[in-house]
Amino acid sequence: MKRLYECQDRLQAQMLRDALASHHIHTVILGDYLSGAAGELSAIQFPTLWVVEDDDFTLARQLVARYLTELEVERADWRCPHCGEQIDAPFDICWNCSTPRPEG
Ligand SMILES: [Zn+2]
Repeated sequence: MKRLYECQDRLQAQMLRDALASHHIHTVILGDYLSGAAGELSAIQFPTLWVVEDDDFTLARQLVARYLTELEVERADWRCPHCGEQIDAPFDICWNCSTPRPEG
């Protein structure tokens, strides 16, 4: 088992886990709750995603990187490739010339 990614929260961890599951990569989420070991100091821990099969690790890293990049792209403003207008992030079509947001 290999440590793949330290997530921001449980929701992100679950989303990444689901995304990897769709590629048949088995992962587990650890570290977002206290282990319960006696005497252990409580510390804020971020959920960490682990790849169960080491052979899946390289692909899993690529998929996570791509997934996180896609999330960034969705949030970012974009520029219309046709007329050059700056379009706000939530819109998928240029308000000026109706060109759809370019992929990637
Ligand atoms: Zn346009």
